[in-house]
Amino acid sequence: MAAPRVIAPGAAIGILGGGQLGRMTALAAARLGYRCHVFGPEAGAPASQVAARTTVAAFDDAAALERFAAAVDVVTFEFENVPHEAAEALGRQVSVRPGANALAIAQDRLEEKRFFASIGAAAAAYRPVRGPDEVAAALAALGAPCVLKTTRLGYDGKGQVRIDHARDAAAAWAQLAAPVGIVERLVDFACEISVVIARGADGATAAYCPVENRHRNHILDVTVAPADVPAPVARAAGEIALRAAEALELVGLLAVEMFVTAAGEVLVNEIAPRPHNSGHWTIDACATSQFEQLVRAICGLPLGSPERHSDAVMTNLLGADAGRWAEILAEPGARLHLYGKAEARPGRKMGHVTRLKPRGDGGPATPRAAAASRGRRRGRGGRAGA
Ligand code: AMP
Repeated sequence: MAAPRVIAPGAAIGILGGGQLGRMTALAAARLGYRCHVFGPEAGAPASQVAARTTVAAFDDAAALERFAAAVDVVTFEFENVPHEAAEALGRQVSVRPGANALAIAQDRLEEKRFFASIGAAAAAYRPVRGPDEVAAALAALGAPCVLKTTRLGYDGKGQVRIDHARDAAAAWAQLAAPVGIVERLVDFACEISVVIARGADGATAAYCPVENRHRNHILDVTVAPADVPAPVARAAGEIALRAAEALELVGLLAVEMFVTAAGEVLVNEIAPRPHNSGHWTIDACATSQFEQLVRAICGLPLGSPERHSDAVMTNLLGADAGRWAEILAEPGARLHLYGKAEARPGRKMGHVTRLKPRGDGGPATPRAAAASRGRRRGRGGRAGA
């Protein structure tokens, strides 16, 4: 493979979206001497607060997109619901990394399921559905309980309805309020894990260790790195992530979320071709953070080491949790990250805190982690209801 073009420090990186993922990418980019230009519909967004420039415009503003593309050397995105058309239009002027293909797959659960099948990765059994009768038929085929999900624009449990009985099919369909969906068998998982992997333009890859993700009200609450899973499970998870990144010919970052069953089976849930909440711990615990890795990948720089110097427990600060900043700052070793969001709405990701346990220390990173790992719950698939 020919050596990729290097976009050297000093160049401008365009970021579609202004949220916390863009903010942490811009901070990592700035450390390497890049300038970031954020494009998004809101002024004063978390990423804009730390970026050199912002274009405030809608994602379908063709003229603004054209000017943005002319002003940057490469474009990436911090959330996957960037309209496909916007990514394609930009791609005609400047490199968009990861490309429109990865976006298209991550935006649509059906495409995602087909993609998983194409790389030989097992996923929960499912049926596409277009109406209440098809929901009922899917339930009959798969067996309750199931989850009905929108194919598009679902995240953090939004666009999901749990169905426990066949008689609830019509009500679930009405609640979904979408033209098309998928019915997926509820997985009785022992834990949820994810792998974040980077792939460079030269095909080199670097994966972080699998981590365990615990959710509360469908939103990520805690990530424990590394996941306490048997070595074959960790290996299988890493292999799935690698196959996915290679099949997508990804240049950038990919997060792969998976369920692990009590029998040690690994089932892929979804992918996100961008930095991921379950990778935030890498800022404080790894030689190279996921955000720096993204910058390196899209700029054609060598990938950094994904090795961790510490084990870590990352806890999201949702809504009013962020008001505990003084208490967290007073805790020796706690690493506080706040995203600069003014309004602490319930469930809104306001920041996170990472607690480290240098490797070789013995014992879990925090008393809380010790309690959590002792109390590891089984069969939490039941949380996927509406
Ligand atoms: P998703 O938006 O697909 O990532 O789903 C959000 C969360 O809902 C997941 O992290 C799981 O906790 C839960 N969930 C989604 N699909 C299933 C499933 N088929 N079985 C069990 N839990 C699920």
